Amino acid sequence: MRRVKTYLETKAVGLTGGIGSGQSTVGEIFSRFGCKIINLDLKAKQLIDRDRTIQNEIRKEFGASVFMGNSVLNRRILGEIVFNSEQKLQSLNRIVHPRLVPLVVEEMEAARFSRKYPIVILDAALIFELNFEQMFDLVIVVYSDQNTRIERIRKRDQLSRGEVITRLKSQIPLEEKKHWADIVIENNGTREELQKETERVFKKISDDIPVQRRIRIE
Ligand code: ADP
Repeated sequence: MRRVKTYLETKAVGLTGGIGSGQSTVGEIFSRFGCKIINLDLKAKQLIDRDRTIQNEIRKEFGASVFMGNSVLNRRILGEIVFNSEQKLQSLNRIVHPRLVPLVVEEMEAARFSRKYPIVILDAALIFELNFEQMFDLVIVVYSDQNTRIERIRKRDQLSRGEVITRLKSQIPLEEKKHWADIVIENNGTREELQKETERVFKKISDDIPVQRRIRIE
């Protein structure tokens, strides 16, 4: 015997921020509350790892050095190339996005259709850069100060301050994204504060979603 919750509505939420602002951490907290999280970076990586056509196009555009062996992408080298050139970043997006976007939309729709989740969340740094915002009921921006972000990324990715700043510059400034957000989650304090704030936002979004509770005999 098992209690089953069916959500009669599922909200679609875009979760974004800037590199190091804490958006993946917020995504993890939402998943603990039973939300479905789709991480765009991870999806892109999985797609590149298995799609030979994309691999060939990347090799043609960026050279064989961005692969280790035949098909394993060297993300560090590719990252260095695209974060130093707006044009190269656009070339990479032109190769990957036409195949990536339909996959992500399909996965979001499947999650909605399953009625298992109150919220389905796309965790992606570039929601505004890619003009994805119209796909969602609302967009959350996770915000933290630039110096806090630099320190967090240096620790997480073992990059120099210069490398971090180059990456920050390749994105729309976080102050600007904050103005476009439906909800802003501030993350300048402790992890505990972030947890509390995310829980508050989760409740605010999901409180009015109608739920059907049933007991399933197995
Ligand atoms: P993003 O996905 O926005 O790039 P992450 O969620 O990966 O950022 O956070 C960047 C790093 O900072 C991670 O190592 C994470 O564990 C850490 N971090 C995030 N929020 C906090 C916080 N409030 N206090 C301390 N460390 C944090």
